[in-house]
Amino acid sequence: MEEFEKTLTRQQAAIEAERCLYCYDAPCQAKCPAHVPVPEFIQSIRSGNLHGARTLLQSAHPFIETCGRICPEEAFCQSVCTRSKIDAPLRIRELHRFVTDSTDPSDRMELPEVTLGKVAIIGAGPAGLACARELRVRGFSCDVFETRQVGGVPSQEVSTHRYPREVDEREVRFLTSTFAAHVRTERVTDLKPLVAGYEAVFVATGLPSESDMNVEGTELVGVYHARELLRKMKSGAISGAGNRVGVIGGGNVAIEVASMLREEDPTRDVTVVYRRGIKELKAFKKEIEEATEIGVTYQFLAIPDKIVGSQHVEGLQVTQAHLCGEDESGRCSFEPLPGSSFIIPLDTVVVAIGQRVDEGVFPGLVRSDSGLISVGENMQTSMPGVYAGGDAIHGAQTVVEAVRDGKKAAEQIAAFVAGGK
Ligand SMILES: Cc1cc2nc3c(=O)[nH]c(=O)nc-3n(C[C@H](O)[C@H](O)[C@H](O)COP(=O)(O)OP(=O)(O)OC[C@H]3O[C@@H](n4cnc5c(N)ncnc54)[C@H](O)[C@@H]3O)c2cc1C
Ligand code: SF4
Repeated sequence: MEEFEKTLTRQQAAIEAERCLYCYDAPCQAKCPAHVPVPEFIQSIRSGNLHGARTLLQSAHPFIETCGRICPEEAFCQSVCTRSKIDAPLRIRELHRFVTDSTDPSDRMELPEVTLGKVAIIGAGPAGLACARELRVRGFSCDVFETRQVGGVPSQEVSTHRYPREVDEREVRFLTSTFAAHVRTERVTDLKPLVAGYEAVFVATGLPSESDMNVEGTELVGVYHARELLRKMKSGAISGAGNRVGVIGGGNVAIEVASMLREEDPTRDVTVVYRRGIKELKAFKKEIEEATEIGVTYQFLAIPDKIVGSQHVEGLQVTQAHLCGEDESGRCSFEPLPGSSFIIPLDTVVVAIGQRVDEGVFPGLVRSDSGLISVGENMQTSMPGVYAGGDAIHGAQTVVEAVRDGKKAAEQIAAFVAGGK
């Protein structure tokens, strides 16, 4: 299927770059978690030096092609663009995409010799590979351990519609071949051998488990976990979903799987079933708009009671909800309306209600109440020499925030090794 937006033409990019006001304090750069030097790379576009622009982007942000496609800029750089006080904010993400689509990642930098020893990185997602890059340019060698496909969630689960396979392959192949000494296909469960064999360890394992729904009927044929289904479809297999699908949840994963199921079969009815209202959906606004554009529908204010059917899913029983003030965290609360339950006829139910860390690994690491790996300000875990970052320490975030953590952890690891551990 065609992508929603095409890359900017050279002329459009030049016009967009001309709009930059070059604010002295560059609020866009400060607001970007990876501190991409926005005014500088825009200046390079303006002077026609696209290779220089790519070098600036890549050195601040190794997943820049990825973010040129899927970074929620409206939550970061674009939200503080001064130009929006005059007319509209700059399309910063589109300018990243223009630069990376017009140049090649293999404009290689000179790498120093390895003099500082070896670091083990667990997880080849944005946090792990950003850390590998940063450590390699400082003179470390990195072995990366990955249980699935390298690249993490964007490579494994984000729709090819938003994130084309060739872009993913080009960027991830470049990062692994340039900055990782070895990539080992292995699910690491015990940290002790790595602590003994390496100068330091970085745990960047994300949130590989999915939350289950505590209602009747989850054992029926036709009930799926959202991310498992996303991985299946991304690998090119047919989802196996029917013609009337209900996706339970209101976050990015729910919207992603609903969109991918619609793309797989545009005649299929796909309804997102959510307990709160449209304003409370947690997914990125742009993704909601795109899902709606391709025909995803919504059943708001509906609390799932049970999945009904004998062997196969036949429907989802829900109770109507109404919104009522805010809970302690400031989120909108909801309450069921007694006697208002009804059945939505469905043949498939997809559960997209949350992601969790893998709790069956790394005994000995202190975790928070919600199971996330606990770290101090220097990103070190409860085990000396073991650092952690990305979704595994914060819960679900974004690619650019995982990159920030990978860079910061590399700095801290370098200081730890320099200090004689
Ligand atoms: C469906 C979906 C859509 C998203 N859309 C967007 C978006 O549009 N924009 C955006 O910015 N963010 C998006 N995100 C969020 C973003 O993908 C994550 O925040 C980001 O990938 C986190 O990076 P990470 O490196 O911490 O973890 P991950 O990307 O999860 O990478 C962790 C890696 O570790 C591996 N691993 C796990 N356990 C082990 C183990 N024990 N041993 C070895 N390897 C292991 C995993 O296989 C995985 O490859 C989306 C997330 C999902 C689920
Ligand atoms: S990575 Fe994201 S937040 Fe940072 S400058 Fe690019 S679009 Fe903006």
